[in-house]
Amino acid sequence: MVNPFPYSLDNKRYHTLYYHLRTRFPHRVGKAAVDAGFSCPNLDGTRGRGGCTYCRSGGTEFTESASLPVREQLERELSRIRRKWPDAGAIAYFQSHTNTHAPVSRLRTLFTEALAVPGICGLSVATRADCLPPDVLDLLAELNGKTDLTVELGLQTIHEETANRIHRCHSYAEFLTAYRALTERGIRVCVHLINGLPGETEDMMLETASAVGLLRPGGVKIHLLHILSGTRLAREWESGTVPMLTREEYIRIVCRQLLRLPPETVVERLTGDGAKEFLLAPLWSRDKIAVLGGIDRFLAEHNLWQGCLF
Ligand code: SF4
Repeated sequence: MVNPFPYSLDNKRYHTLYYHLRTRFPHRVGKAAVDAGFSCPNLDGTRGRGGCTYCRSGGTEFTESASLPVREQLERELSRIRRKWPDAGAIAYFQSHTNTHAPVSRLRTLFTEALAVPGICGLSVATRADCLPPDVLDLLAELNGKTDLTVELGLQTIHEETANRIHRCHSYAEFLTAYRALTERGIRVCVHLINGLPGETEDMMLETASAVGLLRPGGVKIHLLHILSGTRLAREWESGTVPMLTREEYIRIVCRQLLRLPPETVVERLTGDGAKEFLLAPLWSRDKIAVLGGIDRFLAEHNLWQGCLF
């Protein structure tokens, strides 16, 4: 069957990060994750304490130690990426915790240090909607004029009752304000969503995808809720009050979400990436190839593609 989806170099029926980077840069590009030692306003009491109920360590398990300088972390990441693609560049991905939760002078120093590393060709900054004051927005707008910048905003869900249950500690309205402040400055935004949050139905997850799709974001990352040991959510799950999606349900929900996203939006992730040593459930998520293959098969068998219901 001919693939009707235009933003594809292979047979994918959604707009992959691979397609985006291959058509944007003349060389291969990887993502170089950095832990710059930030905290989070939802951990340190600025907005809340204890963090989102599913948060174990704010993503630090994926990065080099924060004790290493940013330059050294990036050089190590570039070496790793270049073992696979010798001529590759990399986007410096400030991933751990909330990467704008610091005085703007410190942010300027860190981001400038990252961009000065040979081979770094862009910047991706993961943060929260409640952590973008005007001086930080001005810095991001300035950097956006110099490099390929993406700001990654954790939304997870548009539904306030779920946000309260997972202790997100900011509202959907705050997300919309931050989203507009970024996009008005021409900054590309990637929105993070989580499927399978406690209390959410399939319709609620589809509503989140539809609402986010209407914003026409530059990118989305769709995650699967992972139960990680040591989290508050793990205790809820152990008490039997947090049902898990099956792999078949997850595949169907993601595909139905993709239909509701504009075709131009880059789908930068389609599964969660829970640290394997801490993962309690769902264990089927360890087999990412089966999940991604299931999504490809579902779309092809039903002759569907990203944006066909947008
Ligand atoms: S916003 Fe991120 S780092 Fe902060 S508590 Fe929630 S998941 Fe953890």
